[in-house]
Amino acid sequence: MIKIGVVGAAGRMGALIARGVVESEDLVLTGALEVTGHPMVGRDVGDVIARLPLGVTICTDMAEAFADCEVIIDFSSPMATIEHLTFAAAGGQAMVIGTTGFSDKQRVTLFEIGAGVPVVISPNMSIGVNVMFKAVAMLTRLLGEDYDVEIVEAHHRLKKDAPSGTAKALALSVARARGVNLDEHARYERNGIIGERPLGEIGIQTVRAGDIVGDHTVYFAGGGERIEITHRAHSRENFARGALRAARWIKGKTPGMYSMLDVLGLSDEDR
Ligand code: NAD
Repeated sequence: MIKIGVVGAAGRMGALIARGVVESEDLVLTGALEVTGHPMVGRDVGDVIARLPLGVTICTDMAEAFADCEVIIDFSSPMATIEHLTFAAAGGQAMVIGTTGFSDKQRVTLFEIGAGVPVVISPNMSIGVNVMFKAVAMLTRLLGEDYDVEIVEAHHRLKKDAPSGTAKALALSVARARGVNLDEHARYERNGIIGERPLGEIGIQTVRAGDIVGDHTVYFAGGGERIEITHRAHSRENFARGALRAARWIKGKTPGMYSMLDVLGLSDEDR
């Protein structure tokens, strides 16, 4: 049995992950953390996932929530995740991080701290999306610069960061496959008289609407034709399943930052 602590246990992803842990035969839920002031603090996790009491109380104290766990699964917010990783680094617990929206500076901090702990970090834990990273890199190489690349992502109206971490990772796959620096080629918005599209630009556009779980389309548009490759998440369960797979994989690994491509046994050169 692998002992799991869940961060953001009353959140959309955290609650699904807690349920997945409780329903699996090789994982056991030993702790549940929430932010101070959340209405579910002090309640049994079973209340969040509509099950009988599990004997695990949602608390706000990291030491209490993580005391007995081997792997911490964190889908919360960037600042909170950095705090939890710092705690895990001191205590020797492994981590699975699904949180998105880190600034460049926060990412550097995350990777510095994460060097001393086994960590899986991925902006998208779904198997389909990780295969899409590979497919996009391959199409980029095969089609070459004559094909304009545009990435369009759509998510629910409550999502806090934009563009999605997955859209940025797809853009990075394109940039790496072209051997260019993403920051020098990314174009995040267009408005007004923008002139002709520069060769080699990588467009990344955002839609926020309703309850869309997560759609990503990459366009490769050339003269007289285009290829569109689309991934649509039908529910959040695929992310939760991926997070549990990552938790099983990371236990006992050498310290360092790993991706879902590592978990899935795909090379990470295209991420
Ligand atoms: P949510 O707002 O429903 O849940 C986040 C939870 O974290 C909330 O319950 C919040 O109270 C809690 N939280 C915030 N600060 C905390 C702290 N300091 N300590 C403990 N708990 C804290 O959001 P969500 O839809 O579940 O998404 C959470 C994160 O996961 C976002 O960054 C989102 O983009 C990301 N996400 C990643 C994937 C993936 O596959 N990697 C998939 C879906 C969502």
